[in-house]
Amino acid sequence: MTIKLFDEDAYLTDFSAVIISVEKEKDVTEIVLDKTAFFPEQGGQTPDRGYLNESPVSDVQIKDEIIYHYVKNEYAESFKVGDTVKGHIDFQHRFSNMQLHSGEHIFSGLVFREYGFNNVGFHLSDNTATMDYDGVLTDEDVLKLETMANEVIVSNKCIFTSYPDEETLKALNYRSKKELSGPIRIVEIEDTDVCACCAPHVKLTGEIGMLKIINRENHRGGVRITYLCGFRALSFYRDALDTLKYLQNTLSAKPGREKEAIKKLSDDNKELAYRNVGLIQSKLSGDITLLEKPIWIGEKEYAEHLRFIINCMHERFSDTVFAFAGNDEDGYRYLIESDSKDLTEISKLLRERFNAKGGGRKDSIQGSAPLKADDISLLFNL
Ligand SMILES: [Zn+2]
Repeated sequence: MTIKLFDEDAYLTDFSAVIISVEKEKDVTEIVLDKTAFFPEQGGQTPDRGYLNESPVSDVQIKDEIIYHYVKNEYAESFKVGDTVKGHIDFQHRFSNMQLHSGEHIFSGLVFREYGFNNVGFHLSDNTATMDYDGVLTDEDVLKLETMANEVIVSNKCIFTSYPDEETLKALNYRSKKELSGPIRIVEIEDTDVCACCAPHVKLTGEIGMLKIINRENHRGGVRITYLCGFRALSFYRDALDTLKYLQNTLSAKPGREKEAIKKLSDDNKELAYRNVGLIQSKLSGDITLLEKPIWIGEKEYAEHLRFIINCMHERFSDTVFAFAGNDEDGYRYLIESDSKDLTEISKLLRERFNAKGGGRKDSIQGSAPLKADDISLLFNL
């Protein structure tokens, strides 16, 4: 069993330990120490980063209470059983995890107290942090809980950890994701929550800085909440502000007037698109009056105007009318209509010989196919 130095002191960054075993595997070398400050991957949380002597630790795992540190094989020779190593924890990474993990306790404790829902999932990676609950919370519920969580944070409550004896434990009302055996580590947040947990936490809730919910989605009959705490929340806010400033500059919008400016841009855009359709259609109807044969072939950008084109062609030609929009590289979209001919054969040919995807009726077929301009001429001569 590896002695867990992080159990006693979550702030310990440098330690010395004795090497118990060194196993060189295919890609990595596995090192076991008598004690460690490295928190392994467990309970939905990614492992600590840091160094053993000069070697970066790429992974930390735990199995049957033994903690395994992994380093690249090129460092294997520098580790000998019985030697003392110096360990160093990347505290910026660890502290960020402590902020997020402690924030989860506060939020889950409040969800349980206010709604009776259990925290049934927790995921804390270097990019995202989520909490799952076995009941549905609305956006208003989440907003209320977020405010309450931040009230606990600013009240700077103490967070205690302990291994209570069996009797004390029996009398204790605490949250736990699963049935636990052996000594149970209890994490208590003053006046807020009591929970069984093995991870490092901050000592005072004020260190969490803030808790911000950034997403709520339905998940397995309950909800999944994505959230941020502390420095990650700060970093998110910086990025968001950067985006906001970009919008202000691009749209020449005063602070606070961004939504208005975007609405105006969107309305202007719709108006322009509407006018553009008018211009395109007037050009197309002009082009069609010049057609000698009842076939129109044009660029891909006109694909959405095929119905308009065919309608214009019906006015000019009495029999079958063909319209194709596209190019040899991307293929063509088509619309073919006839007042007298049954187009079933053409539709079949397009599907079977030219791999067309589409359908229609006897007198009107449409779709798209990886056609070439030569194929279209061939079809037209049918
Ligand atoms: Zn915890």
